[in-house]
Amino acid sequence: MPIDAPARGQQPRHAPADAPAAVTAPPPVAGEPCVLLKLGEVVLKGKNRELFERRLHNNIRAALKGLGIPIHVGAREGVIVVRADRGGTVEDVDAIARRLGDVMGIVWVHRAWRVAKDVDATVRAALDLVAQHPLVSDPARRPAFAIKARRRDKRFPVRSSELNILVGAAVQDRYDLPVNLKHPEITVSIEVDQREVFVFTDGVPGQGGLPVGMSGRGLVLMSGGIDSPVAAYRMMRRGLRVDFLHFSGMPFTGPESIYKAYALTRELDKFQGGSRLYVVPFGKAQQQIRSSSADRLQIIAQRRLMLKTGQALARRLGDATLVTGDSLGQVSSQTLTNITALDDAVDLPILRPLIGMDKVEIMSEARRIRTLGISELPDEDCCTLLTPRRAETRAKIDDLRQIERRLDAGEMAEQLAAGVQEHRPGYDEPAPAAI
Ligand code: ATP
Ligand code: MG
Repeated sequence: MPIDAPARGQQPRHAPADAPAAVTAPPPVAGEPCVLLKLGEVVLKGKNRELFERRLHNNIRAALKGLGIPIHVGAREGVIVVRADRGGTVEDVDAIARRLGDVMGIVWVHRAWRVAKDVDATVRAALDLVAQHPLVSDPARRPAFAIKARRRDKRFPVRSSELNILVGAAVQDRYDLPVNLKHPEITVSIEVDQREVFVFTDGVPGQGGLPVGMSGRGLVLMSGGIDSPVAAYRMMRRGLRVDFLHFSGMPFTGPESIYKAYALTRELDKFQGGSRLYVVPFGKAQQQIRSSSADRLQIIAQRRLMLKTGQALARRLGDATLVTGDSLGQVSSQTLTNITALDDAVDLPILRPLIGMDKVEIMSEARRIRTLGISELPDEDCCTLLTPRRAETRAKIDDLRQIERRLDAGEMAEQLAAGVQEHRPGYDEPAPAAI
């Protein structure tokens, strides 16, 4: 569709299509609604930059598939434009913007208007956008504004500073609002591109980081607790595509921890798509460790067996690293000595993105990514099964290796990994009635 024609169903968000035309109802913006994305990690150059953008385009398409809106993803210099094919409704574009707020590698998500590349169309869109702004529709307010124009196409005959003055004067004339360049309450951004002009008033911060998949693949050991989902999020944000592995205490506990791991994986899937959760019933193995008289080493021996099982599964899945939610000193298994003893259990690197974070910081991130509520649901964590009265804080690696020789821990890990149950708790897929 021509870009200066009003889009189908285009209505300001607060005025439904069938609402009686109020005297103050702002006009629809003349142009095509679209989403403008600002990219992160601008320090990346050359081949890495290409890889970043190619991966991000694919991830954007995959994330939007579930909406069922045909889209067009276009590259511009340092930005990406996502349009609903054949001109979408404002609601379509709002849904696209919301979904892209979860895609890694995007720093800002702007709901923009794409207008013809001339000054009149730009002024018209800016005026309409200001009219739609909630601060302007409030008769008690007289908000200060600023126009921030930039040209990605330097051949455009009107310079940025001239555009600022031109559009600013039009806004002042029409709405009698004060200009404040330092602390505006409303900022109208104008970006002149090669084929069109984008006009928008605000945006929401994206997740930042790198597109998922750019840094390879890893396996997250995910309990039902608060920390490991945040660790998964942190690594996805550094471009790691992750699989999830959960150990339940079954058959000696109920299935609640599995439901939590399922719900957590489903919530985290919004950041990468196509997530897989692998579940190991671990109760019997825990009992075997106890029978080998691990005593005060019970917890650390269990954690080593989890890591060994994780490594066996990771090799099968092609995951090159393990990820845990360890934070230094948080619990007895996370002293420096014990962490060293855990590293000794496997050859694969163990990434611990939360190692230097406080519980308060971890919890606030868990709240932001919406995993906290799920993590706080009650369950019977397998680690609280068979807990010794006093846990060892300075585990000796030789003692642990001796216990593992008695158990044939290598073989146990292989068998546990071979017996995993696989689930696919996709964010965009309907939840099954029961798992
Ligand atoms: P979390 O909140 O992630 O459970 P935590 O502070 O409770 O962490 P621990 O219980 O010592 O600490 O676990 C440390 C890490 O070991 C977890 O972050 C997770 O990566 C892994 N882990 C612990 N229990 C399990 C489990 N049942 N299944 C999978 N991984 C686990
Ligand atoms: Mg835990």
